[in-house]
Amino acid sequence: MPADNRRPPRTETRIIRTRARASQHREQVTPIYMASGFTFDSAEQARAVYGGEQPGFVYTRWDNPNSAELTARLCELEGAEAGLPMASGMAALFTILAGLLNSGDHLVASRSLFGATHQLLTTILPRWGISHTYADCELTDTWPGLFRPETRLCLVETPSNPGLTLVDLAWVAQLCRERDVLLVVDNTFATPVIQRPLALGADLVVHSTTKFLDGQGRTIGGVVLGDRLVINELTHFARQTGPTLSPFNSWLLSQSLETLSLRMERHCANALALAEWLSTRAGVEAVRYPFLPSHPQAALARRQMAAGGGVVTFEVSGGLPAGRRFLDGLKMCNIVANLGDVRTTVTHPASTTHSALTDGERRATGITPGLIRVSVGLEHIDDIVADIDQAIRG
Ligand SMILES: *Cc1c(COP(=O)(O)O)cnc(C)c1O
Repeated sequence: MPADNRRPPRTETRIIRTRARASQHREQVTPIYMASGFTFDSAEQARAVYGGEQPGFVYTRWDNPNSAELTARLCELEGAEAGLPMASGMAALFTILAGLLNSGDHLVASRSLFGATHQLLTTILPRWGISHTYADCELTDTWPGLFRPETRLCLVETPSNPGLTLVDLAWVAQLCRERDVLLVVDNTFATPVIQRPLALGADLVVHSTTKFLDGQGRTIGGVVLGDRLVINELTHFARQTGPTLSPFNSWLLSQSLETLSLRMERHCANALALAEWLSTRAGVEAVRYPFLPSHPQAALARRQMAAGGGVVTFEVSGGLPAGRRFLDGLKMCNIVANLGDVRTTVTHPASTTHSALTDGERRATGITPGLIRVSVGLEHIDDIVADIDQAIRG
């Protein structure tokens, strides 16, 4: 992937200036390559490109100029050697777990996981004899005892969805390195703008690009990034199983990355302001945000994150009925299961994203019946606060 003629030093510049080679039309912005296959000049060229001896594209289930541009930009963002764009965040997670683990293998996972990731570990992987043990994020003393001789992989999500619990990445990377266990970090909530797990020792980073990376609520997508040898292994798995990201979604996502750092600055500033305001508002309990001093892991947050992220959680006094009344009272903020949008979106995890968990599983991951998750958007902060204020008042 050729960058523009100079190689500028800063990430924001590199994201914008890294692009697919222009066609003979010299377009300023990369077009969408809606082509399932690519042609060759000769039998020899077809053989060489197909075999990976020569650069080029073969077939869009494998690769495409749009997905290649997206991958190059994501690698710049995460500081990764290689990457693999996928049709969704779950496709990325499934590709990692099914592509790297064998029957009889075991993994350790942080307990606070995205609902579908939890379902993948508990209802799908056991069918192939792959087992897991959950580790409680805040009980770090218990972690070393959870690894077994057959533990191959450790999966953590930090900050977690929706509990906003953190895992100390440098610490867990060391734990994994000593045991020859691959560390996979779901970096969806932080984004590489505020947290770069590979630099802290992780082997692979996974994203649901559906969230802040797209940031405009348009596409479903995912990506795995990391060491070239591991990505090569996953590429082999993905090329045969087919969870490819389409050229159109790759193109949209690649453009979204051009504004990512700008958007994250505003998401984080608005989220911090909302969290601070909620902390002083009567009728609100348990406000949680990584950069609030009241967060139990606030010191760790400041150490491994450049900002607190775009998500705030809280409870309205009065439990489940009060939480439901609050949602029904919102006039501007959308009630959506998704997050990471320019629009402020509000979710009630217990009845939506984490409804498939048992009461006990929800309690263990800090999802109380009245918990409200706000993905703070890019509207003016005064309008966000005003809407939430009037909905709390009821
Ligand atoms: C949304 C999400 C996923 C799943 O991603 P999809 O794009 O919806 O498949 C995985 N992990 C986290 C932390 C998420 O928020």
